[in-house]
Amino acid sequence: MADTRYVCSVDIGGTKIASAIMEYPADGSRPYPVYSAEIPTNPSEGGEVVYSRIEGAIREALASDPDRKVIGVGVAAAGVVDPKTGSIAYANEIMPGWSGIELGPRLREALGMPVAVVGDVQAHGLGEAHWGVGRDRYSVLCLGIGTGIGGAYVEDGRVMRGFHGAAGHMGHIESTSAQGIPCACGRSGHLESVSSGTSIGRMFEERYGRVDESRPTVGRDVNDLCRQGDERAISVIHEAGFALGASLGSLANILDPEVIVLSGGVIHQGPDWRSETWKTSVAEGYASQALDPLLETPILIGELEGDAPLIGAAEHLLASL
Ligand SMILES: [Zn+2]
Repeated sequence: MADTRYVCSVDIGGTKIASAIMEYPADGSRPYPVYSAEIPTNPSEGGEVVYSRIEGAIREALASDPDRKVIGVGVAAAGVVDPKTGSIAYANEIMPGWSGIELGPRLREALGMPVAVVGDVQAHGLGEAHWGVGRDRYSVLCLGIGTGIGGAYVEDGRVMRGFHGAAGHMGHIESTSAQGIPCACGRSGHLESVSSGTSIGRMFEERYGRVDESRPTVGRDVNDLCRQGDERAISVIHEAGFALGASLGSLANILDPEVIVLSGGVIHQGPDWRSETWKTSVAEGYASQALDPLLETPILIGELEGDAPLIGAAEHLLASL
C-alpha cells in the first residue's frame, strides 16, 4: 500500500485565491483538504501584488502543519498558462498586470519544491475527470457555464492544453444563434454571447425590459420566471439551451468524449439542470448536431463545484512529477 501523500493546491481567480493542503489517503480513495484558506485577489492592485499574495498564501498553507511532508504545489490559474513554463501568457482586463507574470518559475525558485501550473478551467476539468462525475471514464468533455463559458477536454487522465495553453475556450466557437452579437473577446457570433448566465439575462432585458427595474437582469431572474411558466423566459432559456446543446454536439463530433460534464454558476445556481425547459433544449440542440454513434453520449452534471480546480491542480502536479 502506498503512503499517505500531501499536495498543496492553489486556485487563483479574479475574485479570490483559494489554497489547500490535499491529503491523498494511502488506500487510494478521493483526496480531501486537511487545510484550506481563502483570501480576496484584489486584482486591481496589479499582477505583482497578486503574486506576493499567492506566495504568502502557499507559505501559510505549508506552515500549517510542519510535520506534513508536502510533495509539491499544484496551481490552477486564471488566464492562459504557457504549458512549457507555467508563466501567465495572457490575461484579460479583469486581472491587470497578470499577463507576463512568471508564476511557475518564480514559485519554484522561492519555495524550492516542484510547482506545476495549469489553467483554472483545465484544472476544473481534471478534477471532475479524476475524482468527480467523470471518474473511471476514459474521456471527459467538461464545460463550465457561468458569467462566461470555458471548457476542458480530458483523455486518459490528461487535459488537452494546446500549443499556447489556450485550448478549451469553448465559449468562443461560432454559434449560428449568436450571429452578429458582440462577444466579450472582441469578436462576434460566439456561443458565450447566447448561452452564458450573463447572456441569458441580457437577451431577456433587450427583448422584454428588466425583471427588476432597479438592477440589470441576470440569468437567475430569467430562470425563476421560466419555472413560473412565463412564456418570454421560456423562449429565452430555450434559445440559450438549444445553442449550447448544438455546440456540444459539434464538439462531440470532433472529440467523441465518453461523457460530457456541465458545471459552473448557471448549472448550480441559475437555469440549472432541474429546469426542464433548459434540459430539454440542450438535449434537442445536441441531437440536432451530434453524429449517430454519439447520440447516446451522457450529458452529466459536475459534482465537485468549487473544489474541482483545487483537486485538478493537485492531479496536474502529481502527473508532472
Ligand atoms: Zn468570443
